[in-house]
Amino acid sequence: MNKDNPKITIEDIINEINYLTDEEIDKLKSAYEYAKEVHKNQKRLTGDAYIKHLLNVVHILITLNADSDTLIAGMLHDVINIGGVKEEDIKDKFGDDVAMLVSGITQINRLNYNGTNETMIANHRKILVGLTKDVRVIFIKLADRLHNMRTIYMLSDEKKKENAKETLEILTPIAHRLGINKIKSELEDLSLRYLKPDVYFSIVERLNKSKNERNKFVEEMMDNVSTLLNEHRIKHEIKGRAKSIYSIYKKLDKGKRFSDIYDLLALRVFVDTIPDCYQAMGLVHSKFRPVPKRFKDYIAMPKNNMYQSLHTTVFGPNGNFFEIQIRTYEMDEVAERGIASHWSYKEQGKNLMKGMEEKLQFFRSIMEIDENSEEIDTKMEDLKDTIYVYTPKGDVIELPYGSTPIDFAYRVHSKVGDSMVGAIVNEQIVPLDYVLQDNDVIKINTNKTSTPSKNWLEIAYTNQAKNKIRSYFNKIDKAEYLKKGEELLTKEFRKKKISVSETLSGDNLKKILDDLHLANINDLYINVGSGKISVSHVINSEDDTKEETILNKVIKDNVDSEYKGDIIVEGIDDIKVNRAKCCTPVKDDDIVGYIQTGIGINIHRSICPNISNIKERLISVRWNDKTDKKYSTNIMVYTDGMKDLIFDIASVTQSNGLTLKRINNIKMDGKYSFEIKVSVPDKEVLDKYMNALSTIEDVTGVERIIK
Ligand code: MN
Repeated sequence: MNKDNPKITIEDIINEINYLTDEEIDKLKSAYEYAKEVHKNQKRLTGDAYIKHLLNVVHILITLNADSDTLIAGMLHDVINIGGVKEEDIKDKFGDDVAMLVSGITQINRLNYNGTNETMIANHRKILVGLTKDVRVIFIKLADRLHNMRTIYMLSDEKKKENAKETLEILTPIAHRLGINKIKSELEDLSLRYLKPDVYFSIVERLNKSKNERNKFVEEMMDNVSTLLNEHRIKHEIKGRAKSIYSIYKKLDKGKRFSDIYDLLALRVFVDTIPDCYQAMGLVHSKFRPVPKRFKDYIAMPKNNMYQSLHTTVFGPNGNFFEIQIRTYEMDEVAERGIASHWSYKEQGKNLMKGMEEKLQFFRSIMEIDENSEEIDTKMEDLKDTIYVYTPKGDVIELPYGSTPIDFAYRVHSKVGDSMVGAIVNEQIVPLDYVLQDNDVIKINTNKTSTPSKNWLEIAYTNQAKNKIRSYFNKIDKAEYLKKGEELLTKEFRKKKISVSETLSGDNLKKILDDLHLANINDLYINVGSGKISVSHVINSEDDTKEETILNKVIKDNVDSEYKGDIIVEGIDDIKVNRAKCCTPVKDDDIVGYIQTGIGINIHRSICPNISNIKERLISVRWNDKTDKKYSTNIMVYTDGMKDLIFDIASVTQSNGLTLKRINNIKMDGKYSFEIKVSVPDKEVLDKYMNALSTIEDVTGVERIIK
């Protein structure tokens, strides 16, 4: 069971790799020398030199055919966190790509997991994936964890259980979605061993007891099948298959009896081609009666993680059930190494980064698809959670149970979804909220001029469909705002007899955009059209900048840099948290976290329009009651005239016990407005302060600014 190899050497590793160039091998060797030096005084809890952990991690990565950068990063994965080295040093010695991978693994290894409920667990998985810029970082993480789990026996029982729980909740689901079965099933077995040692060892014992008998049956069946295939000249190999202890545990846990678990007796047949798979399956069924409902064609209908194979269970000689899987060698590669199987050395070189980019996209999309069908992970065998439905042409579409014709239409193509007017299922018209059933044949009626309806968001079941509907409305809203904004500005400019083409071009345009923190003229139109920025603000924008007050120069703009600890991200400690500059939330505001790839979590107010269309990257966060920090935020004070209220505002601020960090006056439509930056401990104080501001004579409105 314990595959840790404390005696492994760099020579063993190099002897084993057969796919790197000499140059890459030299680089790996120098990474080894470097890591050995960095960790020279460090030991693992097992008493082994630290470098042995790194060699083992690299060894695991080789079984995935990892590319040279990943192997090197695997060797260096602890030099920052454990060895105290700077990222710059890695960049200098091993290049940008390796440094990026090492920094990625360092970042996710710093996440401190303390999840106790489903939301926290899902959050944690989401963050781990969201932070990862490159899927190769996840491979290193899995290899690191696998070796840690192999050498966990030194830890206290409590620590063992903690590690096992985290592995099962966070890492094996990710390994499963990436299809990396090799690592996944070993991680599961190791986790079960430490989480429920009694159960684990009782299964091991029962398997051992029945081993001789089972081997006899399996060998007999292998002979039978082999003879049958040879008679029909199908080139093949057959292997007996050991069922993982964890998968037996899952079945016992569902109430099955040990003797009833079909696939205790299991074989796997390997053939060269897909037609051979079907032919072999036909032959097996012609000789051994199949058990009803146990035949599955994952070749025509691959699982989401790309797994392909034919599965059947048959009545074998002596009345035993046999589970038989038939697949090509290529499919077996995918079954064992999943997404990493596409990582053959042939692909390396020029296209490597592009390939990896695509894989990461794929990886994210898997995480998304499965997000609302979490259950599939634990009930892979239970097909009720997944349905297979058909297009009129007979194409198969896999959807989670609960999906509606809307989900189907968007799964086929966004264009089909966006122009859908109705659905016909098995030749009958159904309402759009009809819940699709296994084997339904679905025809979607479309009309080019038709558009989605907002209440589809309530009816659609999959995140994929919901995201596509949202993005449709997002685009539409934007187009409308753009048109409206352009009209509004043109009209206003004409009224004031200002030349549009002169004002909104060249340096002048740049100045306006900079001032309003906008990227281009379309953004300007959209913001004006949606009412976020008033027309007069744009027109006067030019003057504002000249009218910076003296106060502005005196008061320094302090940005909160120490923010960690103020915000609690459920389930995670030690993650970088930044307060968004657009909506400057203060304590007790309703807030939400946005996962920014490779950076951390940005905190926005829930009402901030900048995050309203990116639900899939949002996670729930809350304020830590215990903090007593101050938060700067931006307020706009509108007035009715040209009176300079700076001193009135300053005195109200002072009497509320607050400090002004900045104040600007802005001329709008011949009236003064004041933009204030102020520091407050929480929302209550801020509300009270804004109230006080609104009582100043000539003030017509006070509001918080969202940019
Ligand atoms: Mn490590």
